[in-house]
Amino acid sequence: MPELPEVETIKNELSPHIVGHYITGVTLFWNGLVRQPSVEEFRSHLIGQGITGVARRGKYLLFSLTGGKKLVIHLKMTGSLLLKPASSELGRFIRAILRLDGETELHFRDPRKLGVMWLVEDTDAIVGKLGPEPLEANFTHQVLAQRLVNRKAPIKAILCDQTFIAGIGNMYADEALFAAGIHPLRLGGSLSQDEVERLHGAIQQVLWSAIGNKGASVDTYFRPGGGLGTAHFQFRVAHRLSGKSCPVCGTPIERIPIRNRGSYFCPKCQPEP
Ligand SMILES: [Zn+2]
Repeated sequence: MPELPEVETIKNELSPHIVGHYITGVTLFWNGLVRQPSVEEFRSHLIGQGITGVARRGKYLLFSLTGGKKLVIHLKMTGSLLLKPASSELGRFIRAILRLDGETELHFRDPRKLGVMWLVEDTDAIVGKLGPEPLEANFTHQVLAQRLVNRKAPIKAILCDQTFIAGIGNMYADEALFAAGIHPLRLGGSLSQDEVERLHGAIQQVLWSAIGNKGASVDTYFRPGGGLGTAHFQFRVAHRLSGKSCPVCGTPIERIPIRNRGSYFCPKCQPEP
């Protein structure tokens, strides 16, 4: 699933091509993509709207429109937004097309049809409960420490909880915990101050590095131009098959399920709780 670095890359690479442009047409091949309002209202309101900005909050993309509403998109497991020249051939798994003036189209590709779009006045009901943005200046190690006090869930599950911290999923949680030398099953509230500081630094380093590499193309993630990200080439444990060796100590990487997600870690560099 696209996580913060992938969605940030999509935002960065879409913006110069769509901000300042008007939506001239909307085609939906899969109505289930539109969560709110009705498909008819969605289509009729969007046509004629100018896009004034694109922002990211957690794993959500927020398009500001001239009429004051916002188009919110969540790509879920397999969604991509592709920039295409007008009237280009329809690729596989395209669920919606937004046509823009200037001969550009935005194709919503989504093999598993799990992506969601909303058109709303107020985004609070969608993104209001998200935790802090890990790359913003106000997300300090003190904030992380304070949020972890008395937390009794495994730190891996806590990092993937979007209300705890926004934008991190399975891949970058595994990478950050490896970089910090913390076992994924450690309980959130059990981390020492030193470990919290290491984890905070690791989260920021792992996410910035992945943004620098334009995201990780591990399954179906494409950048808007159709290219791939290369962040997964830097992964040290995430998405490794069990049995591959730790790049630091050579111990075989292990995989355990935590809340139904496979978690990869090095049993030596990340000692058991
Ligand atoms: Zn190791």
